Amino acid sequence: MADTITSPTTTPEVVLATAKKMLEDGLVEGTSGNISGRIDGGLVCLSPSSVPYDTMTLEDLVIVDLDGNVVEGTRSPTTEKDLHLSALRRYPELGCVIHTHAVYATMFALAHEPIPAVIEEVVVYVGGDVPCCEYKGTGSVELGDEVASHLAERGAALLANHGLVTCGSSPEKALHNAALVERTAKIVWGARAMGATIHPLPDKVNTDMAGVYRFIRDNP
Ligand SMILES: [Zn+2]
Repeated sequence: MADTITSPTTTPEVVLATAKKMLEDGLVEGTSGNISGRIDGGLVCLSPSSVPYDTMTLEDLVIVDLDGNVVEGTRSPTTEKDLHLSALRRYPELGCVIHTHAVYATMFALAHEPIPAVIEEVVVYVGGDVPCCEYKGTGSVELGDEVASHLAERGAALLANHGLVTCGSSPEKALHNAALVERTAKIVWGARAMGATIHPLPDKVNTDMAGVYRFIRDNP
């Protein structure tokens, strides 16, 4: 598949609108978190470093090649650009990567604990449990490699002691995954706070839905 796939692309306008939606949805605050979208010409549109989402404009976005060289834009790209570029280089079927410090997901990242796929939506849209990557320094190439290695069959991964990364063929799907994972982390945390036993989904659900995630990821 990876050899023949035509990579999905988006536009800077959609990247900007999705960045603002991340703020509206409470997935980011201030200047934390970042987004990338694959655009035409084998290039990537990245959110800038240190620009608040509410005042961010198209001119603030930075266009880079897949190696991270700036092609267009006057700002510095997000310092976490390797998180994005490593995944987009490795998985041609992906069109967008989103990174947030969403509160409930980050609670699991502190615990170095996967968020369990205990509701069917997570199996369908994320591919199963959200794994937690090994700790690597923020903004490092090593962190990018570590995270990308966990995204082969998943639409999300936790960064130990840091936050969440989600991906998809489009900004809409990557954003959907971020909101879904955060909601799942919240309900699992809440169920545990109730003292409830959390029951896994029946194995049959995971088996029956195994191909659905792959189909969604590969078909924009
Ligand atoms: Zn971060």
